[in-house]
Amino acid sequence: MRVLVVEDSATVAKVLLHLFQQEPGIEVDLAKDFATARELMERNRYFAALCDRCLPDAPNGEVIEWSLAKGLPTIVLTAQMDEGERSRLQGLGVVDYVIKENRFSYQYAVNLVSRLKRNQAYRVLVVDDSQVARKQVKDLLARHLFQVVEADSADSALMLLATNEFKLMITDYEMPVMNGVELVCRVRERPGGDQLSIVGLSGQEEVSAKFIKYGANDFLRKPFFAEEFYCRINNLIKAWELNQQLWQRANLDYLTGVANRRYLMTQLEEARSLTEQNDQSLSLALLDVDRFKAINDQYGHQVGDRVLQALAKELSQSLERFVIGRVGGEEFAVVMPGLNGDQAWRLIEAVRRKLTSAPLDLGDQQLAVSFSAGLCQAAPEDHTDELLRRADEVLYQAKEAGRNLVLLEEDQ
Ligand code: GH3
Ligand code: MG
Ligand code: MG
Ligand code: MG
Repeated sequence: MRVLVVEDSATVAKVLLHLFQQEPGIEVDLAKDFATARELMERNRYFAALCDRCLPDAPNGEVIEWSLAKGLPTIVLTAQMDEGERSRLQGLGVVDYVIKENRFSYQYAVNLVSRLKRNQAYRVLVVDDSQVARKQVKDLLARHLFQVVEADSADSALMLLATNEFKLMITDYEMPVMNGVELVCRVRERPGGDQLSIVGLSGQEEVSAKFIKYGANDFLRKPFFAEEFYCRINNLIKAWELNQQLWQRANLDYLTGVANRRYLMTQLEEARSLTEQNDQSLSLALLDVDRFKAINDQYGHQVGDRVLQALAKELSQSLERFVIGRVGGEEFAVVMPGLNGDQAWRLIEAVRRKLTSAPLDLGDQQLAVSFSAGLCQAAPEDHTDELLRRADEVLYQAKEAGRNLVLLEEDQ
């Protein structure tokens, strides 16, 4: 991801480049004048541009119009702003403007670029029976690089929501057949329907409140200013991201990113009841790194940590279909619904063999690592704690038998 900064002041450029350095995944090119900016835009592909409104060879914002004409999402850097200029820039279709006042405004600009980068991954559904109104909202969203999908009725919105993942829905109120508030109710009653952020649009005051009462996250009164629209949308996306972070902190292991013990247990419970309902098998594997203490002792705790990370990555790739969790220091569990004990054994044995055939890649060094595993298949009356205990017992037998071994519980 490359961004172009066009700025003639060396001080401002230095601050911006410094702040961009803290943003992972964003590369920056700097142009000190309009001519260089044009040349760079011809030569490279950028996903956004930060343009100073006043340059020695472009004193009246020429670079902004040029950048927009190139189709680049453009953020304006300016020393001052009056009402006329503000609405002129909004009319041109800039992403936003930043008044060069202090380090907070530069941080705002950099955050905005990083926001644009993330927005590209978010799909937004725009629901309105009026094509003109849809286009207006769509254009605003596209300017901030969201992926936009349109629906011309509540019904087609529900259909799209059933088959696609959306972060956000923006819906009008007045629509034939089903209005926006009814749509919100229908969305919220669906399983997982509380995950979607919803903004209601309406020209009437009482409808705005109704939207919120029936489950929308926010509303906008029509007609609205672009800036107001963006503030609301950004706040919702930020809240969603924060929520996501909280969820990850609560459910994923901080070191390896796989499920933590608690989340793995709830996933195991869920798999138990689902497989029981559908008359399917369920197997559980417990893996423990062999002689891990020796790895720590010989190479240090940090290398030990990286071994755990690399192993978790390897397990996630090889066993992609299944939930993997770190249930102890160097112990991982794999929940395998749909597999009987023998099938599960073959799968884990293949991973063991792969790991034994080549050392684990830690980037700057390679390390031979092996694990032992104990597997068991769930019987109808088994409690999940009991399953884990049994897998642990089989794991112990594998260790006793010499390690680097995958064992399946014998028929009881
Ligand atoms: P075995 O083959 O019998 O499993 O031997 P082992 O050395 O792997 O088992 P042991 O239980 O004796 O030691 C496990 C070690 O794992 C001890 C502990 O310091 C280390 N450990 C636990 N959690 C972490 C961690 O998060 N990072 C690192 N680097 N080491 C950890
Ligand atoms: Mg300047
Ligand atoms: Mg061990
Ligand atoms: Mg252990």
